Amino acid sequence: MRRIAEAVPDPELVVVTVGDLGIVRDIRLAGETVEIDVTPTYSACPATLAIELEIETAVNRSGHRAQVRRVLSPAWTTDWITADGRAKLKAHGIAPPLPRGNTGADSSRYFSQPAIPCPRCDSTDTKQLSAFGATACKAQYQCASCHEPFDYFKCL
Ligand SMILES: [Zn+2]
Repeated sequence: MRRIAEAVPDPELVVVTVGDLGIVRDIRLAGETVEIDVTPTYSACPATLAIELEIETAVNRSGHRAQVRRVLSPAWTTDWITADGRAKLKAHGIAPPLPRGNTGADSSRYFSQPAIPCPRCDSTDTKQLSAFGATACKAQYQCASCHEPFDYFKCL
C-alpha cells in the first residue's frame, strides 16, 4: 500500500514521486479505509490538493478506500527529500535543495542565496536570474561556466 501511495508522481515536478519528496508520513488501515498522512511540501503550494487527490485515486484504484489526512506538523522540509529524489532532480537539470542551515530562516535568504551548484557541470559559479521559476517552488539560475539556465528547487 505504501508503495502504491509513494509511487504517485508530484504533479508539478513530475520527475519525482511523492515518496521521493518524503511527504507520505504514515499509512494505516482503519477498518475498510486506508488512512494516509500527507504533509504538504509547503502549505501555500497550489499542488497540495492535486497531490492528495492523486494519492487517493491511486490507492482507490488498487481496490481500497483511501482517505488522505493533511498533517501540517511537523512541517515538511527539503531535508526529507530522499537521496533518490535528489539524484532524479539533478538528472533532470533541477538543482536539488541545499541542506537547511545553509540558508537563513528569514525571507532575506532570497537575496543572499548561497552558491547553488549547477546540476549539469557542478560549477558553483552560478547566479540567480529570478526568484520564481516555472513554479513558485523553483528559482531560476544560470551557470556562468556552461551558460546553461537551470531551476533550483527552493521549497523549504
Ligand atoms: Zn554549469
